[in-house]
Amino acid sequence: MVVLGSTGSIGVNTLEIARRYSLEIEALAAGNNFELLNKQIKEFSPKYVVVKDKKTAEKIEFKDVLYGEEALLEIIERVKSPLIVNALVGDAGLKPTLKAQECNKKIALANKESLVNAGKFIDTAKITPVDSEHFALWYLLNEKSKVKSEKCNAKKLYITASGGALRDWDMEDIKKATLKDVLNHPNWSMGVKITIDSATMVNKLFELLEAKWLFNTSDIDAFIETKSVIHALVEWNDGSTTAHISKTDMKLPIAYAVMDEVCDEILEPVNLLEVGNLEFRKIEPQRYPVWDIKDLLLEKPDLGVIVNTANEFAIERFLQNKISFSAISSTILQAVKKFENIDINNIEDIFEVKKEVKVWCESDFI
Ligand code: NDP
Repeated sequence: MVVLGSTGSIGVNTLEIARRYSLEIEALAAGNNFELLNKQIKEFSPKYVVVKDKKTAEKIEFKDVLYGEEALLEIIERVKSPLIVNALVGDAGLKPTLKAQECNKKIALANKESLVNAGKFIDTAKITPVDSEHFALWYLLNEKSKVKSEKCNAKKLYITASGGALRDWDMEDIKKATLKDVLNHPNWSMGVKITIDSATMVNKLFELLEAKWLFNTSDIDAFIETKSVIHALVEWNDGSTTAHISKTDMKLPIAYAVMDEVCDEILEPVNLLEVGNLEFRKIEPQRYPVWDIKDLLLEKPDLGVIVNTANEFAIERFLQNKISFSAISSTILQAVKKFENIDINNIEDIFEVKKEVKVWCESDFI
């Protein structure tokens, strides 16, 4: 297989699965973390290696290292592997997903921003989600359909949220939250961007859109489960609700995404007696202002491009200490208000609209 984003949180877990099952790695792609990438090259002996830029390429111990977005797309075309794991973060993952689709590859998709930006142009039949909630939904829907007839339908899908690092903070203090505060996630260890997205609840908005495309339904909602023991639930038309429970470790969804069937113990089961009790909370727009646009987004999924672009812009500014944590959400809401009537008719539109939103963010808003 090919692992894009091999030095990130998902990438490293993917290579752990590859190590355990001696899976062959044809290509590795990463951004700037040359030290880790050099170790991975030594261990997995890929045929192709791509990094983000020339400066990083010069530090890579590999004969024909390539760099830049074009090279990344070229490698996807060149490889023989049937499977591309896309664990790139943010917009960097969009073109690789589209290219992998064009090349008729199977995609293990961690890069949820691909579906948020371009869900209606992506054939989800060739995608396996590497996201704990969507894996959990897939698992529940598959298990049930094994034992029941087609008449037993899922009525509504639910995914859970942890609530992020600031879920118990006083509302007034949230305005003053620093990057260090926001990265202090209570349950998961993940990359920087998704940890910020978790604190704003943008991550859950994205996951609802992701679920809409993957499972072809808008009957989907989310709530907070503070221990992240339950990842998703399915409400069936017979009145039952089934839930997926597992530890907070991405190796389980990754193992399924890269190997289709898994019979070994990937994670230790959750000991519910040790867990003791669970707490569920409503996602309140007062604490998570972006939740106000949840229904609009499911109704008009083209707005995913706007939310995603404004979010990436604002996160960059927050990382540079130029805006407050709360300004991430207000940037998104104002961008949606400004571009609410946008229509995306083809893939080129996505990139045009992104440019427009970025220009607006730069000049008109911040
Ligand atoms: P990380 O930030 O940990 O890793 C991102 C990876 O992408 C790194 O290998 C990074 O390289 C690489 N990268 C970034 N920009 C470029 C670029 N321009 N060219 C090439 N490589 C690049 O992110 P995560 O692993 O946390 O997340 C990856 C994706 O998976 C995100 O879309 C996230 O939402 C999703 N996801 C993550 C989960 C998690 O538990 N972490 C759970 C579910 C979904 P380098 O570090 O070398 O610069």
